[in-house]
Amino acid sequence: MSTETLNFQAEVSRLLDIVANSLYSNKEVFLRELVSNGSDACDRLRYAAITQPELVADDPNYRISLVPDAENRQLTIADNGIGMNRDDLVENLGTIARSGTLDVMNQLQQAQDENEKVNLIGQFGVGFYAAFVVADWIEVRSRKAGESQGWRWASDGRGTFTVEETDDAPARGTRVTLHLKEGEDEFTESERIKHVVKRHSDHIAIPIFLGEDEGAEQINTASALWTRPKSEITDEQYTEFYRHVSHQMDEPWMRLHFKAEGKVEFTCLLFIPSTKPFDLFDPQRKHGVNLYVRRVFVTDDCAELLPAYLRFLRGVVDSEDLPLNISREMLQHNPMVQKIHQTTVNRVLNELKKKANKEPESYQTFWETFGPVLKEGLYEDPQQKDSLLELARFRSSERDGWISLDDYVQNMKEGQQAIYVLTGDSIEALRKSPQLEGFKAKGVEVLLLADPIDDFWVPSIGEYQGYTLKPVTQGAAELDSIKSGEDDEQQERSDEEKTSDAAIGTLVAYLKTALEGQIKDVRSTERLTESACCLVADEGDMDIHLERLLRQHGR
Ligand code: ADP
Ligand code: MG
Repeated sequence: MSTETLNFQAEVSRLLDIVANSLYSNKEVFLRELVSNGSDACDRLRYAAITQPELVADDPNYRISLVPDAENRQLTIADNGIGMNRDDLVENLGTIARSGTLDVMNQLQQAQDENEKVNLIGQFGVGFYAAFVVADWIEVRSRKAGESQGWRWASDGRGTFTVEETDDAPARGTRVTLHLKEGEDEFTESERIKHVVKRHSDHIAIPIFLGEDEGAEQINTASALWTRPKSEITDEQYTEFYRHVSHQMDEPWMRLHFKAEGKVEFTCLLFIPSTKPFDLFDPQRKHGVNLYVRRVFVTDDCAELLPAYLRFLRGVVDSEDLPLNISREMLQHNPMVQKIHQTTVNRVLNELKKKANKEPESYQTFWETFGPVLKEGLYEDPQQKDSLLELARFRSSERDGWISLDDYVQNMKEGQQAIYVLTGDSIEALRKSPQLEGFKAKGVEVLLLADPIDDFWVPSIGEYQGYTLKPVTQGAAELDSIKSGEDDEQQERSDEEKTSDAAIGTLVAYLKTALEGQIKDVRSTERLTESACCLVADEGDMDIHLERLLRQHGR
């Protein structure tokens, strides 16, 4: 039997360095991560066994065992879940498969203080690698369900790891043995282990035992958290569950736990993270909400369950009605899944409205993190348009901070018929745009939109409360009919200004000839107060920024 020595992916090595230092003050979380992996492994096998019952025939009771060995200063975390073969070990414990890894690594290396690092790691979740905080070296023995060959993986976390065949693997599943560092003996003490499990892993639905022999004691409640009455779940338990399902370490910003009864019965426990997951804009990302059927994990990749514009949600949906052996294909166009989808979207948007009203400041931080994603719904989900417009927040030419469309409407000038918007690449650039000058002069507020998505939903949105959303670049003839409130102060045009009218006529004629074929028209205007000229689009023409964006993308 030969031993292969392999290098960790470069990012893993860098991550390991950073993890060792930044997680140290909170090192007990390694146990949560390993228990969480054991639970995921059992979940995956339980689902596979629905169609292949032979996989679990000789050992149908899923469990996780924690086996301390004080004498040798070791702690073993064992599960009888799906297990890993050679390729799984190399792939899963040698690389970071998640997209955006490089990005995080660079940020992590630049991060100055520990808090910032912990925060960054929190958005990412270090999972298995957290174990190197307390272990000098780690052995993983594993046998994949349905396969005969067992494998051993070992590493001291310093750049390389080994893989080899072994006769010493569990009958099924994975045994992770930590060779604890000097001074980490506490993690071989029963009381300490029980305490850590209660604190971080009580929500795990698979029974966790301390020890492996006859007298092994179950140390968690082992009922799926979402099935318990809300009143019996503490905030800490919710948070730990969130970390388990999201594979992130931050705090959830919002949670929503409800049971839908009636035609379609299901339970939802959903969270919105407080920080932005790194793969938010990665088309390859997994969907963050796991689908269960009567407590059995089915998939973490059901695109039909929730719309893409709510892809920041994390948690579980547990259906009472779907068949257990439902396949990917069956999930598509399934009326029950569609009903769950609709009900859940409504509940989530309602909950967001409540948050926006009750905790406006906190809501703004949510908006800053996930607003650009939520806005995708404005053109993807016409049914929810009104709700989403109500939830949207904007920068404005007249005020600092975020405002809602209601705020805007209340601030409209007499005679104003439209909600004016200006799209561009950055808020700072937009604030300086000459397009705004005429509006500023009259005190007419303009919404400033600088997310790429804005160019796509604005044209499709039509109206809000009877007012059309209108790019300021689409002609501004209406500006004349809006009262500024300062009209009395407007001065008569001086003689000097009047005599220049003739000169402007000559200039306009000249520009029209000079720019022929490149522009549609040249007009003199009262809109500008400081700049010499600006580009405008005709009423009904494509917005200028969108036109430029499409041209950049070669459309
Ligand atoms: P995550 O759990 O967020 O995917 P981890 O670093 O915790 O990241 O684990 C990496 C991968 O290794 C897991 O996705 C899984 O495929 C595999 N893995 C880890 N522990 C186990 C285990 N006990 N049994 C089976 N697979 C495991
Ligand atoms: Mg994990």
